[in-house]
Amino acid sequence: MAITRFAPSPTGYLHIGGLRTALYSYLWAKKTNGEFKLRIEDTDNARNNEDAVKAILEAFEWVGMPSDCEIEYQSKRTDIYKKYIAQLLEEGKAYKCYMSRDELDALRAKQEAAKENPRYDGTWRPEDGKVLPEIPADVDPVIRIKAPTSGTILFEDGVKGSMKFDANQVDDFVIARANGMPIYNFVVAIDDHLMGMTDVLRGDDHLSNTPKQIVIYNALGFDVPKFYHMPMINNPSGKKLSKRDGAMDVMQYKADGYLPEALLNFLVRLGWSNGDQEIFSMDEMLELFDPNNINKSASAYNAEKLLWLNAHYIKNVSNERLANELEFFECHLEGHDKKEMILDLCKERANTLVELKDAITNILDVPTSYDAKGSKKFVKEGTIEMLNSYVSLLKANKEMHTPVDIEGFTKPFITDNGLKFPQVFQPIRIALTGGTNAPSVYDIIAVLGIEETVTRINNAIAVSFGKKEV
Ligand code: GLU
Repeated sequence: MAITRFAPSPTGYLHIGGLRTALYSYLWAKKTNGEFKLRIEDTDNARNNEDAVKAILEAFEWVGMPSDCEIEYQSKRTDIYKKYIAQLLEEGKAYKCYMSRDELDALRAKQEAAKENPRYDGTWRPEDGKVLPEIPADVDPVIRIKAPTSGTILFEDGVKGSMKFDANQVDDFVIARANGMPIYNFVVAIDDHLMGMTDVLRGDDHLSNTPKQIVIYNALGFDVPKFYHMPMINNPSGKKLSKRDGAMDVMQYKADGYLPEALLNFLVRLGWSNGDQEIFSMDEMLELFDPNNINKSASAYNAEKLLWLNAHYIKNVSNERLANELEFFECHLEGHDKKEMILDLCKERANTLVELKDAITNILDVPTSYDAKGSKKFVKEGTIEMLNSYVSLLKANKEMHTPVDIEGFTKPFITDNGLKFPQVFQPIRIALTGGTNAPSVYDIIAVLGIEETVTRINNAIAVSFGKKEV
């Protein structure tokens, strides 16, 4: 049973790299009948903002991955962290360091000049028999952890394998600032322990934090969770994903007409695979996902694949669901007597809900203008007469409703009059939708109904075709 978490810092919106981390954490928890928890890492007051928290929570609601516990906010847990700082001080596992900013800067400059890695030199680290400097009156101390000075920090990463860090790479880092506020690596370790984490999945940009967090776990006698550090998502040229490539707000995907299941399906494959399977329902993801199979190398964002998956889900979810989703795009089909027919017709060609909406409104909205180029090409001598005869035919077939019925009387009309299909269909398409880019005429007429079709054709003749010089 895995207890996992997603712990975003609300410094901006949730982007897809974060959502992938959350998805993997969620899947692993749910697959093992464990728990998935959300924690907002909002200790950095200057950079955090409430809108970002709201945006992150909204994104989680949209994709449907709720937290199994009340969401924890680090900003509300300062007292807890301070208690552990006090405990470490009391146990001699942490100490006060009175080095001033100037002294630290001088130390760093000296180390840099000597081409050494900048690290704290242990001036204030208490040791048996060591005499510490006199406490200066004008410096508020920071608290430093007494990190091991020799040996190795080892852990088995579920993605990267055996990880080994020389303990002396980790200096006595600060765990609380001079104002008493605990710092990032400290609070992450405390929270992961208190929230019962068994498995921590996160981006490998956090790998360098892990030895520090292990030092804290060890100092407090906490069990170290299993870590999985995931490679980044790159753009197709192997570079860091930029906004232009798709590293945008998860909610932008909603606005662009993606279904959440398409986005999740896309993300599960960005860094993990099960043979060459591309389509994964949530149930399949839960059955098959295993963080131990996460790819070791970075994955490449592929916008076309996402579009393809979205088209797949648009075709395969219920029309009821599509109608609900379309509400967000101000496309209201509820109560429309041809709802099923129009969705069946338009979803076949839509890659996004925006395209679906456009295809639907293209048919349902009465045209306000008529494509000039199309009209020039297809409205010729005899076209208006042909349309008038077709209108009479439509009126005589008022009881016909299905595309097959409509085809049944339209085809003989075309052939018997010695006409060619585009000669008839294109002017009708323009009359009905304003342009030539529309589905089959039989389908459009079936959706609109004979009466509306007649009205639109008459209207096109009156306001456009009849005024054209032919
Ligand atoms: N808050 C960190 C971030 O947003 C994640 C911390 C973690 O996963 O340990 O990158």
